[in-house]
Amino acid sequence: MKIGIPKEQDDPRIALVPSVIEKIRKQLGVEVRVERDAGRKAYVTNEALEAAGAKVTTRDEVLQCDLIISYHPLPDEEMERLPKSTWLISMFKPYFDKTITEKLRKLGLKAFSMDMIPRTTRAQSMDVLSSMASLAGYQATLLAATHLPRYFPMMITAAGSIKPATVVVLGAGVAGLQAIATARRLGAVVEAFDTRSAAKEEVLSLGAKFIEIEGAKEDTSAGGYAVEQDEDFLRRQREEVQRRAAKADVLITTAQVRGRKAPLLVPKETVEKMRPGSVIVDLAASTGGNCELTQDKKTIVHNGVTIIGDSELAAQKPMDASILFANNVFNFLKLIIKDGQLHLDLEDDIVASALFVKEEEAAQG
Ligand code: NAD
Repeated sequence: MKIGIPKEQDDPRIALVPSVIEKIRKQLGVEVRVERDAGRKAYVTNEALEAAGAKVTTRDEVLQCDLIISYHPLPDEEMERLPKSTWLISMFKPYFDKTITEKLRKLGLKAFSMDMIPRTTRAQSMDVLSSMASLAGYQATLLAATHLPRYFPMMITAAGSIKPATVVVLGAGVAGLQAIATARRLGAVVEAFDTRSAAKEEVLSLGAKFIEIEGAKEDTSAGGYAVEQDEDFLRRQREEVQRRAAKADVLITTAQVRGRKAPLLVPKETVEKMRPGSVIVDLAASTGGNCELTQDKKTIVHNGVTIIGDSELAAQKPMDASILFANNVFNFLKLIIKDGQLHLDLEDDIVASALFVKEEEAAQG
């Protein structure tokens, strides 16, 4: 069996790094082919890939492999040319992309989506959503600190004292908690809110203040995810956010409801109440944004407020992001490869959840 790693089209990450390629070859007995220069932007050289035992080759040869692993799904025109026996592993996000399952089924391709792996303790080492969210939360705070025309910590100098910056974090999941921890380490005063009550204790343990807004809906059967809130709650939340935002220097928004458009928490009116020089970093940009003015993958300035929209901030540190993604993938491959061949145990909830286009479905395509 051969695994193929194509160069990502619009992302500096590489799906497998040399240390993981070596483990895949030695522990799983599988050959690995990597497209030439696939690791260039993550500072993974062709020589390092070859030294780990990978064959560095053309994209065409990589696309002939039995299992193709990439962070982002391959472009449609390439998927259309793949042999029908091909297996794919990517972040397909079928809960957002409602056409992908049918598209792959029709092409006769079988696919695992790393973002469908359950958020359980046993699956933690394969949880790409968590590993990338952690990096993104950290990077969001660094970006905010860089764009803000003030310093984060309190500073007492002979020329006078500087007050600490106030950072408000909306959504205290994996990314939000990392953003809070990073802002605290940089010396900012931090306030945060999440609709899941379990988040309160985590926010407090990081030395941040929890913003109380009564009446959020929760559902313990939603796999740890938040549920959509009704319009009355969202209106009250927007009012509270507006009061906080007017006094804050930075807003970091990470609020997501899986499979839905991101909740609108920061309307244009709130942005216009913020002080000039303030910064918003919106990690929910790719699903519509928590801020009304967010433009995905763009940084804009509105009334002196900088608004950074980016849901893939993890990619800004591609070296570590590639290592974490590769480790997540390796831990998953250990579940599905035995003696150098794919061996699927569909009784295993991790395998069954990730396999969103099954063999029999693909065969009908
Ligand atoms: P996510 O990216 O889906 O959403 C980010 C945060 O936004 C969540 O904390 C959510 O509650 C919050 N949110 C949604 N609507 C909101 C609103 N209107 N206002 C404020 N906040 C709002 O979440 P995630 O970081 O991927 O985490 C999802 C869940 O999975 C969490 O409960 C997390 O603790 C859990 N988790 C468990 C494990 C594990 O046990 N292995 C691993 C990772 C995550």
